[in-house]
Amino acid sequence: MQNNHIPTIIIIGAGPGGLLLYHGIQKRLNKNGEKFNVKIFERDTGPRDRWQGFSVFINSHGMRSLMSCLPESLVTRLPEVIPIPISEKESREILLIDDKGTELLRVDSAKVNYLFELANLSNSNAYAFRDRLRDLMLEGVNIQWGKKCIGYDEVNDEVWAIFEDGTRERGDILIGCDGIHSPIGNKDYHIYEYLIMELHKLS
Ligand SMILES: Cc1cc2nc3c(=O)[nH]c(=O)nc-3n(C[C@H](O)[C@H](O)[C@H](O)COP(=O)(O)OP(=O)(O)OC[C@H]3O[C@@H](n4cnc5c(N)ncnc54)[C@H](O)[C@@H]3O)c2cc1C
Repeated sequence: MQNNHIPTIIIIGAGPGGLLLYHGIQKRLNKNGEKFNVKIFERDTGPRDRWQGFSVFINSHGMRSLMSCLPESLVTRLPEVIPIPISEKESREILLIDDKGTELLRVDSAKVNYLFELANLSNSNAYAFRDRLRDLMLEGVNIQWGKKCIGYDEVNDEVWAIFEDGTRERGDILIGCDGIHSPIGNKDYHIYEYLIMELHKLS
């Protein structure tokens, strides 16, 4: 890549993974000036296109990733979307039982007084409102909605994302955060810390 060239990273998918990666690049790599131009494309036409589930459990690794990648202004608001149960009054857990009432699986939420304590605990989970967490992570991100990626072309040092609507987008790096049926094909997209470290070497 030329010295004065700002590489473009194309992220496919604006789920929790793509959004966290976007924020992580902005916070960790672009904090002292733009080292990467980041574009994010999502097949849904908007954040309310489809119901994605009521809740999601966040474990300590997830909490550390949220704290490490999100801007401070959003980190301080995480307790709004990942509320800690009121001690002795509330409980949030997943309980699976069979047809005879035998307990098969119980996932309890963390017993902490302060959400961010979770980052230092192993084998603990906090219960997030999935849509509210995503709404929070969408703040300040310019998503290009309605762009379903159907493949890509690599031409010399460039990569072109190909969209179902017939358009193409040029980038230097293409990262698939588009869930388990990814046409991008990189299956290691969950290791965002690793990706950020690798991108750091390029910046
Ligand atoms: C029932 C259920 C319960 C779960 N519970 C938990 C839990 O408690 N804790 C937990 O950590 N995980 C849980 N998971 C897994 C959870 O869904 C993932 O951790 C999380 O959603 C992964 O985020 P992601 O961004 O990688 O993928 P997704 O959430 O799948 O996001 C992918 C995004 O990419 C978009 N996309 C897909 N294809 C394309 C394309 N071709 N072009 C453009 N955009 C595209 C999608 O529309 C979506 O917005 C659960 C999953 C299920 C099914």
